[in-house]
Amino acid sequence: MTGTITIDGKSLPFVDGQTVLGVARENGIHIPTLCYHRKLLPQGRCRVCLVSVGGKQTSLQPSCTLPAQDGMVVKTTNDEIVSVRRSMVELMLGNGEHNCIACEKTGECELQALAYALGVERPAIVVEEPSQPVDASAPMILRDMRRCIACGRCVAACSTTVVNEVLSFANRGKHVTVVCDNDVPMADSTCVQCGECVQLCPVGALLDKKAMGKGRPWELRKVITTCPYCGTGCQLVLHVDTRANRIVRVTGREGVPPNDGMLCVKGRFGYEFPSSENRLTSPQIRKNGVLVDVSWEEAIDFTYRRIKEIVERDGPDVFSAFGSGRVSNELNYAIMKFTRAVIKTNNVDHCARVCHGPSVAGLAASFGSGAMTNSIQEIQDAEVLFVIGSNTTEAHPVISYYMKRAVKRGAVLIVTDPRRIDLCRWATLYVQTKPGTDVAYLNGLMNEIFKNGWANEEFLRNNTENPDQVRKAMEEYPIERASQICGVPEATMREVARILGTRGKVCICYTLGITEHNCGTDNVKAIASLQMVLGHLGQYATGVNPLRGQNNVQGACDMGALPNVYQTYQAVDDPGVAKKFEAAWGVNGLSTRVGYKMPTMLRKIGDGGTKILYCIGDNTAQVEPNVNKTIEELKKLELFIVCDIFPNMTTPYAHVIFPDQCWGEFEGTYTNTERRVSRVRRALDPHPNVRPQWWVLSELAKRFGVDLGFTSEEAIWNDMQRSSTSYAGITWERCKDVGLQWPCPTPDHPGTPFMHKNGKFSRGKGMFHPKQWRAPTEVPDAAYPLWLSTGRRLWHYHTGTQTRNSVGLEELCPEELIELHPVDAEKLGIRTGDWVKVSSRRGSIDLRAWVTERSAVGVTWMTFHFAEACGNVLTIDAYDDVTVTPEYKCCAIKVEKIEDGQLRAKAGATERQARP
Ligand code: SF4
Repeated sequence: MTGTITIDGKSLPFVDGQTVLGVARENGIHIPTLCYHRKLLPQGRCRVCLVSVGGKQTSLQPSCTLPAQDGMVVKTTNDEIVSVRRSMVELMLGNGEHNCIACEKTGECELQALAYALGVERPAIVVEEPSQPVDASAPMILRDMRRCIACGRCVAACSTTVVNEVLSFANRGKHVTVVCDNDVPMADSTCVQCGECVQLCPVGALLDKKAMGKGRPWELRKVITTCPYCGTGCQLVLHVDTRANRIVRVTGREGVPPNDGMLCVKGRFGYEFPSSENRLTSPQIRKNGVLVDVSWEEAIDFTYRRIKEIVERDGPDVFSAFGSGRVSNELNYAIMKFTRAVIKTNNVDHCARVCHGPSVAGLAASFGSGAMTNSIQEIQDAEVLFVIGSNTTEAHPVISYYMKRAVKRGAVLIVTDPRRIDLCRWATLYVQTKPGTDVAYLNGLMNEIFKNGWANEEFLRNNTENPDQVRKAMEEYPIERASQICGVPEATMREVARILGTRGKVCICYTLGITEHNCGTDNVKAIASLQMVLGHLGQYATGVNPLRGQNNVQGACDMGALPNVYQTYQAVDDPGVAKKFEAAWGVNGLSTRVGYKMPTMLRKIGDGGTKILYCIGDNTAQVEPNVNKTIEELKKLELFIVCDIFPNMTTPYAHVIFPDQCWGEFEGTYTNTERRVSRVRRALDPHPNVRPQWWVLSELAKRFGVDLGFTSEEAIWNDMQRSSTSYAGITWERCKDVGLQWPCPTPDHPGTPFMHKNGKFSRGKGMFHPKQWRAPTEVPDAAYPLWLSTGRRLWHYHTGTQTRNSVGLEELCPEELIELHPVDAEKLGIRTGDWVKVSSRRGSIDLRAWVTERSAVGVTWMTFHFAEACGNVLTIDAYDDVTVTPEYKCCAIKVEKIEDGQLRAKAGATERQARP
């Protein structure tokens, strides 16, 4: 329904459901508000948005909750309205301590701005109430309830926007206040410090504690950019003190995808690392066994000479290069082009190999494209969310907000994971599988779906190549058999199948719990098959959605930092493609031999197949499985070139170190998990002795007689884009604001929010690849009786170099803990906080235990964030047989309590251990 409303004498159309405030704002008519925020349901609490409604008989009503009605006549201001607004503002100012001079919020406070607009200098009445104590217990957020106006925005934001459900109102009337959980200090509450409450608080009641005293809003330069952490790609505003050359605060960019202003603790508060004194700031080369500072000229000349000598002696394929999912598209393209155009080998790869390699391979084989099919914001509109092998609240927090919102809107959420992760709190059904049994579980579900006639036969007929093959293959996995393998009760499996088969649009999300197995590609193919059987592809809020882990791991793949493809997945072994790139780059003799994958490059060091490794932004010695073996391999390299921003576990083995520019210091682009290309911007002046790595590659190439054509990040982008396919329409200019999602083949293409529209797959028809379940490579036995699975914690990222050099995150999570189920802990005589020795067949580490029911009996869990207790010392160097992605999620370990005497010796050792 539509109608016409008159506001301040203007006749304005509206649609059903619009409020008077909504119509006014849409037409540029200002009505002041305090409790209202675009992202929240209207609350009608503050009463400053009152408007006069009616002809002769008027009444004052809050415009934020007042539905527009046909023929309604509204006035937004008159003497009576102004008088009431002034009274409301005076009451708020009198009810609390609003000392604007000292308040951090000055210049951004909405109450201050309204008081100024209404000419309220000081409150008419001052209500004497005992002052509430300031809660400074949490590391990131300060709660000053003396300044609270009880508008309710923080409570609504916490419960409906980010759905963390920590803040609520307590007490009534004039005693009303906002509390954390059951009225405990914020530090003792379940608050995850995402800071959405700070962002939406209109006054100075909730403040970014770290930004206090660091500059008034008008003194700080604002720079929009993209988050440097997970693959969600949240859009940020950096607040920069230009005199100190430091970022002093971060806020989320409102109104733009993917995050609409929301952030997690890392994105909002993990911003100091670019200014850390621990940064690498000088090139180094190894002389007489010791790394020493040298000039850039000397470092580049040395590197050139050594590469030339070795490659001329042993051929180009002894050279290997790592790009990185943490550096920009431009730098990934630069190392890819250098490797192919200058060295003439395809031995280039990056860390997608250790995470989502199976997604790229499995989804490409099934659908023709190996990326997330749909968009992040669509998740909130899913009817059924099937989340498997994804610890979303910790690894992709902002995506988890959308999942929880979907639940609030009525979606059914099924979480399948060996570990009872936080997301289970919002799940309709939590399904605990045994580690490494996903194929059996998924096959069992498909069997049940076929058996009950819930398969989407029309979709199968019209949009897939070989439906009968999958139907037949799934007959081998009746629920009884599948249940026995995966450990899920038969009734639960039947219920999951029933929900998936009968309850509306299904959106599947997964991450590394699916891919990091010896059968990672099989797992991905099984998920793709399940979704094709259900037919929920090519539509809004559905699809198969691998959530990429690192800020630019999607981009690194798209840029061709892979051994088999140039940018946008153009095959290196296609002679036509090679000719195209020879012409585009002005070079001859591009190799058509598919290059080595990362683990193969490392393995080949031992037999002399790899002699040079050029490693950009990859802390290989901490990231690869079986760390001790990896380090032994790295030591055998003839030339190991490491480019990074911090010293780390890998740098001690380098022959050359090039310090890199850091996020915040360069211009460029990242591509997030939903295929959105967004700009990253320079906000800080880089250290004067740190150079961009594309410049280093250019200088090296010049010495080899090749002009890479790199003069700026924009020039690199243009070079890449000219010869790309799905990025051909994404110009530097077009992605400067909101970003664009590939496929975007032409400059006037709007980008693609969801792929395979109407079941038209990139490869034509969808292809089933039915798979048999097989056990993990190593299973617990008498010597090593427990499973170890690995993952990420909310507070840290990758190998901790960024988060451990940012204030507060280390305080929130200062050390690694191994999670042990109480049943196992009791058998071993271990309590939370005890020091334990954890050993696998590959090595041992010492750390403390956390006894928790998050994991099942017999299953333990930890991360690789901490160099001093790195889970990858234990993980197995076994691999997915298609993509060679390591099996990080399953290996066998034993845990022993360290007794007091051993502990005293250990305390000294721990102090001596260097932090990254
Ligand atoms: Fe950054 Fe990911 Fe957090 Fe967003 S969800 S703020 S991208 S770490």
